[in-house]
Amino acid sequence: MGEHVNNDAVRLRSVTRRHGSGGASVTALDQVSLTFPRGTFTAVMGPSGSGKSTLLQCAAGLDRPTSGSVTLGDTELTGLSETELTLLRRARVGFVFQAFNLLPALTAEQNVALPLRLAGRRPKKARVRAVLEEVGLADRARHRPTELSGGQQQRVALARALITRPEVLFGDEPTGALDSRTGRAVLALLRGMVDRDGRTVVMVTHDPVAASCADRVVFLVDGRVSGELIGASAGDIAARMTDLEAAPC
Ligand code: ADP
Ligand code: MG
Repeated sequence: MGEHVNNDAVRLRSVTRRHGSGGASVTALDQVSLTFPRGTFTAVMGPSGSGKSTLLQCAAGLDRPTSGSVTLGDTELTGLSETELTLLRRARVGFVFQAFNLLPALTAEQNVALPLRLAGRRPKKARVRAVLEEVGLADRARHRPTELSGGQQQRVALARALITRPEVLFGDEPTGALDSRTGRAVLALLRGMVDRDGRTVVMVTHDPVAASCADRVVFLVDGRVSGELIGASAGDIAARMTDLEAAPC
C-alpha cells in the first residue's frame, strides 16, 4: 500500500477557546474544525469579534485551545511545552500582522535576519538579500522602518516571516493598514508564494477584494464556521458578508 502522505499543512479538530470562567466567560472559538491543505490560499472573514484572530493564533501555536487539537504537518501542538511551541513557531510558522511589528532601531535586513538570530543561527547575507529581493526590496536593505512606506514595511515583515521557509504563512489583516494599491501589491506577493512556491497562506481580512485573491474563503460567526466559498468573486464575498453582519436597526 502507498505511504501515508499528510497533505494538510494545518488541521484543527473541534477547537474551542474560552476566555475567563463562569458567567463572565467568553467563547472566542466554539468547536471549530478546519483544514488548510498545503499549497492553498485561504481567507478568513467574519464580523468583528467572531474569533478570526483567535483562530489564527491557535492555528499558529501563538495561543492554546481550551479543548480540541491543532496539528501542524504531522506535529500535534496540544502536548508541547512552551519551549517546544516557541521553537516550533520559529522554525515552521510565519506570521504577519496589520501593524507590521518591525523593530524600529533595526534596518530592513536586520529585521529580516532576526528570526534566524533568535534561533541561534548565523544569517547568510545572500539568503537575507534573496528574501528581500523576493518582496521587491533589495534596494532598501539598509533602510530603517521609519524610512519606508507602509507597503514597504509590510513587505519587510513578509520577508522576515519567510526567512525560515515556514510551512505556513499566517496574516492577520496584513493589508488592513495599507491603501488599496499597496495592499494589492502585498496580495499579489502572497498569491505568487502559493502559485509559484507552493506555500500555504491563511489570511484574515475584512476586504472582499483581498479575500477574492484566495482559493477559499471561510466565514466565522460567533466563534463558529458558518460556511465557505471557493473561487468566489469579490461581489459574491461581499454579498455573503452583508448577510452575516447583523442589521444595526
Ligand atoms: P476577531 O479577530 O474576529 O475580531 P477575536 O478572535 O479577536 O475576534 O475575539 C473573539 C472574541 O474573544 C471576542 O468576543 C473577544 O472580545 C474575545 N477575546 C479575545 N481575546 C480575549 C482575551 N484575551 N480575553 C477575553 N476575551 C477575549
Ligand atoms: Mg482580529
